[in-house]
Amino acid sequence: MKKLYYLCMAWALLGVTTSIWAQPPNSFFVIHCDPGFAHLFPKLSQMIAYATQKQVPLTLELSPQWVAAILADPEKVDSIRAWQAWGHEVGAHHHGIYHCFWDSLSNYPIDTIWAVRTDPYWVPPACVPGAHLGTLDTFYDQLDQLAGDSLLLTWGSSDEHPEVDIYPNVPYRTDGSPTDPTRAFSNPYTRILGPYTAGNQIWGPYTTCQIDYFFIDNVAKANSVKNLYLDTDFSSNYSTVGVVTHVFDFAGNPTYFYQWVNFISGKGCKTVRGILSQASCSTTAASPTFPHTANALSLSPNPTTNHVQLEWNGQADLYIYDLTGRMVYQCTQCFEQLLINTSDWVPGIYIVEMRNKEGRTVARMCVY
Ligand SMILES: [Zn+2]
Repeated sequence: MKKLYYLCMAWALLGVTTSIWAQPPNSFFVIHCDPGFAHLFPKLSQMIAYATQKQVPLTLELSPQWVAAILADPEKVDSIRAWQAWGHEVGAHHHGIYHCFWDSLSNYPIDTIWAVRTDPYWVPPACVPGAHLGTLDTFYDQLDQLAGDSLLLTWGSSDEHPEVDIYPNVPYRTDGSPTDPTRAFSNPYTRILGPYTAGNQIWGPYTTCQIDYFFIDNVAKANSVKNLYLDTDFSSNYSTVGVVTHVFDFAGNPTYFYQWVNFISGKGCKTVRGILSQASCSTTAASPTFPHTANALSLSPNPTTNHVQLEWNGQADLYIYDLTGRMVYQCTQCFEQLLINTSDWVPGIYIVEMRNKEGRTVARMCVY
């Protein structure tokens, strides 16, 4: 068992792939559901219907405005549940304060928010400074509801300091480029986000497993990725080809979307979660610190083999998930401590989530 212990601990350090593939064995397709376009839900349904027919699972990254609109409509929630049951993934999307089209939520100190929103370097005159509607806490709560019986695992944003607004302890991250098609090719890699200081708060350091994508919104861009894919000299060094598009791009002219889905169908299509839960860059067992998770949860021993003792203050609900998002343990209205037998658990990383009146706290646990 000693060997497995070292495997457990070394997990985060192994980001290197050694196999050579003729072409990337994995592919993923992320859909960005941007603020201001939640009325395009019927278009998203069309995208899902076509991708499902072609056996291409999609990873939906939903902005706060989409999540709120879906939760307000039971029929939309039913659609999401049906899509998840088929194998599509629900993840989160956020436009932070450095984005031209900010989604109006931010954990940054108020002074930083307005310093950035009124700085023409970050927010050119064509963009709108926007209104600050609050922190991301409500978004996190709504994501928990939308994820259903599975922790939300994938976060896509391109913030200057992603550690500030990221969903606490979300293990997987996507990011990429709208101009460089070679970014569609990558191997999962460990990203350390932070530490970053703003005002009197420190965010991170936070460890996440990342995979990259290229933005496609027309036939020429989709073809540029396709040509790199067919060029074995280029694509054979990567395990994954990933692209992203917006629902509003599909609503404009969907031709590129159909062409890309047709091309990628049968070429190792998975969700981001499906790829990264198998990746050697899996996240470390250490629990990063967050300013908004002052709530203490202790796990010992961690890593563990046979059992783990959880301790906290007062009454709380506890949930444990594996890295595919499957809930493997739950205890509602539990008081102050739990001793869990993990002797027959599959070795690997698990995510422990605690919810109580103070909010939500998440930690990682390694079983070997
Ligand atoms: Zn976006």
